[in-house]
Amino acid sequence: MDGSMIGENRERPLLILVVPCYNEEEIIRKSAGVLSDKLKRLAKEKQIHEESRVLFVDDGSTDKTFLLLCQITKEDPRCSVVKLAGNRGHQNAILAGMMTAKERADIVVTIDADLQQDIEALDRFIDCYKKGSEVVYGVRNDRSSDGFLKKTTASLYYKLMQGLGSNVITNHADYRLVSKKVLDALSDYREVNLFLRGLIPAMGFPSDIVYFDVKEREAGSSKYTLKKMLTLAMDGITSFSTRPLHLISLIGCIVVLLSVVMCIVAVADWILGKNVPGYTTLLIVTLIAAGVILLSLGVIGEYIGKIYMETKHRPHYIIDSVIWRENIGDRADTDRKRTTE
Ligand code: UDP
Ligand code: MG
Repeated sequence: MDGSMIGENRERPLLILVVPCYNEEEIIRKSAGVLSDKLKRLAKEKQIHEESRVLFVDDGSTDKTFLLLCQITKEDPRCSVVKLAGNRGHQNAILAGMMTAKERADIVVTIDADLQQDIEALDRFIDCYKKGSEVVYGVRNDRSSDGFLKKTTASLYYKLMQGLGSNVITNHADYRLVSKKVLDALSDYREVNLFLRGLIPAMGFPSDIVYFDVKEREAGSSKYTLKKMLTLAMDGITSFSTRPLHLISLIGCIVVLLSVVMCIVAVADWILGKNVPGYTTLLIVTLIAAGVILLSLGVIGEYIGKIYMETKHRPHYIIDSVIWRENIGDRADTDRKRTTE
């Protein structure tokens, strides 16, 4: 049982902004200025702790991003950097930042480096946290800044994910606030194919939504290539759902049922002498073989599904808080420790 005290700083939380960066040399200076100024203002207004920071995660950039980040950290003590060895992708970069921030922050907000997500929404994220939310999802107001293709594929994707049983939030990318409690719980998830947009809602912590406007990218180009986008989409489906495997079993059952009907029809035709010699035997053998193969694949699929879920070693449950008297007769203390088993 591990645990850590949280919630001591709900009124003035120490916030770490986690910013994944991959080849963002054109915009990184400007982003650092904007994000750091925002924290400065929030700290001055006593909304957040004055030790709040911006933590950049250099996701193995091959341009001058890391060099610029090193300069930025020298000029601005509010900025820090984690450099990953090699390009591990957006989701892993975010995770690396969150896990680095875990022991130092009360809350973490993840935001892209390109300033597309409106940083002014941060005030509302913090308000929601102060009112008791452990997770706050940033949801974009509309997708007008996206092209037709991205808009349609995104909308289809969210529908497909929800249909497959994953509780992703429509139009929520990774602009989100999570509390230390969530970070501690997240560190117990050991899966390699990481899809935070599905994982965090599945944890079940109290959450809220903040709507924000998406702006055009101010400089540089999108680092999400089609390949990276498809990989993320596939990860989203396969790391949350074994329904495609169940589908094979279902198709197997349907094929077997249809085969039985077809066999009866074929036998009836044979009795009535309606068909060509050999046809009935051929049909029955083919249908039975197809049905048995599909059904067997389905059964194997069911087991693979179970093995797959086991290999993730996900915690069975997450404890939010415990009320326990050390000695009978003591006042009951709410020990706000979070534990996972
Ligand atoms: N990013 C990253 N690793 C990658 C690809 C992207 O850390 O392999 C970062 C990128 O620097 C940016 C964020 O993820 O801060 C979102 O990427 P981008 O803005 O290019 O995606 P889009 O907004 O076009 O979907
Ligand atoms: Mg972007």
